[in-house]
Amino acid sequence: PIIALSNVRFAWSGGRGFGLEIADFTIDAGERVLLVGPSGSGKSTLLALLAGIIAPGSGSVQVSGVQLEHMGGPARDRFRAAHLGVIFQQFNLLPYLSVRDNVLLPLRLSSERRKRVAEPEAEADRLLRALGLSEAGMASQSAATLSTGQQQRVAAARALIGNPALIIADEPTSALDRDRQHDFLNLLFAQAEQSGTTVIMVSHDESLASRFTRMVRLPDIAQISQVAA
Ligand code: ADP
Ligand code: MG
Repeated sequence: PIIALSNVRFAWSGGRGFGLEIADFTIDAGERVLLVGPSGSGKSTLLALLAGIIAPGSGSVQVSGVQLEHMGGPARDRFRAAHLGVIFQQFNLLPYLSVRDNVLLPLRLSSERRKRVAEPEAEADRLLRALGLSEAGMASQSAATLSTGQQQRVAAARALIGNPALIIADEPTSALDRDRQHDFLNLLFAQAEQSGTTVIMVSHDESLASRFTRMVRLPDIAQISQVAA
């Protein structure tokens, strides 16, 4: 498996807030997993654990053969930069950078990732074209000028550059209409398959399940506790 969680416990704010317990959960390399569940059920929290943005209170989080719970924050940041592609719900593009420089960002943050790409600028432009951003001048345009659909595809190109083992995407299609959602998944999966990348994506839209190898409902794999403030 590329992801293996065992006896994981996590709680926000010292145990007085939301808590999550996952006894056993695995994802095999090459799977495309759709993660669903009610709002507030901890989907983003689980993705943050997998991405090493937060660490479990106890238990083991193994990603790509590495035990994240044994690492400190800076080491987890380096691991994420080298091996994961993360697409946030708000895309988190840097508006003052060009489209191409946004895509190149993971390579700037990780020399290990940089070494996997022979020609970074050509690869950034290839990914932008593959994701349907081929208009002349698009790559050198400021990211601040993009539509939502364009931002989403730039965020996908940024996640994909340097062939990460795993793409983690948090509701990346929620701002798009149906046709554009499917177009986006076509492009994302085509690129992910080319590089053997595993995909885990959160959506509230269960009708996307047919596009994935498996759908996981968070309440089915976790014990969730919510102590009222
Ligand atoms: P989902 O993505 O399924 O909607 P989240 O993982 O975002 O759920 O949130 C689950 C619970 O954790 C919610 O009760 C939310 O308020 C709480 N939570 C999320 N982020 C934080 C945070 N940074 N600090 C404290 N509580 C948080
Ligand atoms: Mg969320």
